[in-house]
Amino acid sequence: MELSSRLTALKGVGEKREKLYQKLGINSIGELLEHYPRGYLDLTGTLAIKDASDEHPCAIKATVTQKGATRPIRKGLTVSKIRATDMERDLLITFFNAKYTVDAIEVGKEYIFYGDFTKRLTGGEMNSPAVISPEESGFLPQYPLTEGLSSKMVSAQMKTAIECCGKQIKETLPDSVLKKYGLCSKEKAIRAIHFPSGQEELEEAKKRLIFEEFLTFSLGMSLTKGKIREESGNAFSNLSTEEFTESLGFELTGAQKRVVAECKKDMCSKIPMSRLIQGDVGSGKTAVAASCMFFAAKNGYQSAMMAPTEVLASQHKATLEKMFAPFGIKVGLLTGSMKASEKAAVKAQIENGEITIVTGTHALIQEDVVFNNLGLIITDEQHRFGVRQRMALSKKGTAPHTIVMSATPIPRTLAFVLYGDLDVSVLDEMPKNRIPVKTYLIGPELSQRAFNFVRNFAKEGKQSYIVCPLIEKTEETTLPLEAAADLAEQIAGQELVDCNVGLLHGRMKPAEKERVMRAFSDNLLQVLVSTTVIEVGVDVPNAVCMVIENADRFGLSQLHQLRGRVGRGAEQSYCILISGTKNPETKRRLEVIAKTADGFKVAEEDLKLRGPGDFFGYRQSGLPMLKMADMMTDIKLLELAKKAAGEILSDDPKLINPENRELYKNIQKLLEETAV
Ligand code: ADP
Ligand code: MG
Repeated sequence: MELSSRLTALKGVGEKREKLYQKLGINSIGELLEHYPRGYLDLTGTLAIKDASDEHPCAIKATVTQKGATRPIRKGLTVSKIRATDMERDLLITFFNAKYTVDAIEVGKEYIFYGDFTKRLTGGEMNSPAVISPEESGFLPQYPLTEGLSSKMVSAQMKTAIECCGKQIKETLPDSVLKKYGLCSKEKAIRAIHFPSGQEELEEAKKRLIFEEFLTFSLGMSLTKGKIREESGNAFSNLSTEEFTESLGFELTGAQKRVVAECKKDMCSKIPMSRLIQGDVGSGKTAVAASCMFFAAKNGYQSAMMAPTEVLASQHKATLEKMFAPFGIKVGLLTGSMKASEKAAVKAQIENGEITIVTGTHALIQEDVVFNNLGLIITDEQHRFGVRQRMALSKKGTAPHTIVMSATPIPRTLAFVLYGDLDVSVLDEMPKNRIPVKTYLIGPELSQRAFNFVRNFAKEGKQSYIVCPLIEKTEETTLPLEAAADLAEQIAGQELVDCNVGLLHGRMKPAEKERVMRAFSDNLLQVLVSTTVIEVGVDVPNAVCMVIENADRFGLSQLHQLRGRVGRGAEQSYCILISGTKNPETKRRLEVIAKTADGFKVAEEDLKLRGPGDFFGYRQSGLPMLKMADMMTDIKLLELAKKAAGEILSDDPKLINPENRELYKNIQKLLEETAV
């Protein structure tokens, strides 16, 4: 058996189970070995019920004394209750939708129950704990799973895989690096990450694997950056852009002026600019982007601005058109949903140079778009694009300058991971006269009041958003949540019958979306009920109020982004979060949002709570699938890995030495994965 063998070579894996593993992206024994646990059940100390704590998950050994029937309590939800004892105190255990687990439990037998514990007078309670055989001990690995696979199965197969192929695991890091940074071998690390003998061995394994991920990533980023720097771009002349900034109708903030200057300086060099502009929502990134595009235009070059959604792309088009009309600079739009004939016309004008500035969605990076002389590429709300897409667009010109704009304030370490190939500018100053949005958290019983609030604004001619998570009822969600469409109808017909209410959601046809969005920005609609499609970038300064239904369904950064849609004018704006959550932790999270207006604080909190994978919702993130690394806690390791990357590159800039061969292969693989 080899690392490259199919999983069916393992005992216990047939074609059917192989398919399940394939769903997780695991196609060979080698890939199985790199499927790391997402956590461990710590069974090193099982507790008596009287010693169990409310504060962290506990492992409790107890004998089952009673088992109730599994009962449906409402559609899609069953409950089963079990009593157990450790001969001193009692444990009441409730399972939800866990018939299979409960059926397997036998009265009179002893088990370890692992999970959160609540103290009660005569003992305690647990909800849906993990049920483990009493013979198990140590750290029980818990794997990322798919339906049909359990951690127990994965762990059994992992054991077999390690027994047969463990010896074949190749070292991927140069010897010198292992020695210098005190890292264990790859083989040892992989054995220990699945079946650690104790805390110490686990830490050693994690350190080694995380270090390798960071190192691979740092090297990948440096190589990418190096490649860009080698290319020879267009050095612009340092022409003044004052006439443009003077026409904007406001004075640029100090931060905007500084960042524009940084970009202009970059663009005057033959090395293509590759810069990330980070600025919280409302910090005025569009004006910065526009100034840079004006600079390119004055130098005789075209610019392209890529946005993640059609709504945002068409809004950019409208904004830019207004800004550039006085200078006779033509702005075009290219999105996937445009009619073929319209697209063809725009493409022709891009090719012959009639259009100087073009905004659009992914359509812009398609093969058949040919630019006349593309000099600058801006991608807005970049975290939705991967490195590869960024590269694809930059192939459209002769090494054009690139700017990436991000509204999600990204903690420094994570910024490096996402954008390590870029230089960074920060817009750390809000335009003057901005009044922070007042945010309130209320329960659903007060939602009538929130709607009254919205109605009063409408009477004064001011606009509001109502945002709902569009979640359809699935088997996992036991609570049906209002779909945006239903809610819009209900609100339009009842609570806000005297207002003009529009609806925007992701499944509408793009033309329809645009019509609604335009009606809202023209103030023909006072209320816009919407799913999160308005999350990024939309700018309607007359909108002063946002109501967010089921706010607990959103991530913190997402709520912050949403809230950024109001408070864009000079007036006091409001954000009302409605949530019926009983979960104290969720409540605390929502209170963080209510209390702080600082996007960086929100982002750090979010990152702490959810980890970097979920932080951006990782399918769309372009975030490499760092398997082990937890950016917040592993900053020191990241710094070390960056240092090691520098050392390796100074010896072997192109990574062609034999000792770096495995690393080089892994870097290529990682860069592939980075482009979602
Ligand atoms: P974001 O950084 O979220 O993309 P925008 O570029 O959409 O922010 O700007 C938000 C709003 O602030 C827009 O209405 C814009 O016209 C306005 N704005 C931008 N810069 C300034 C400034 N220096 N002074 C006043 N208003 C500004
Ligand atoms: Mg924006």
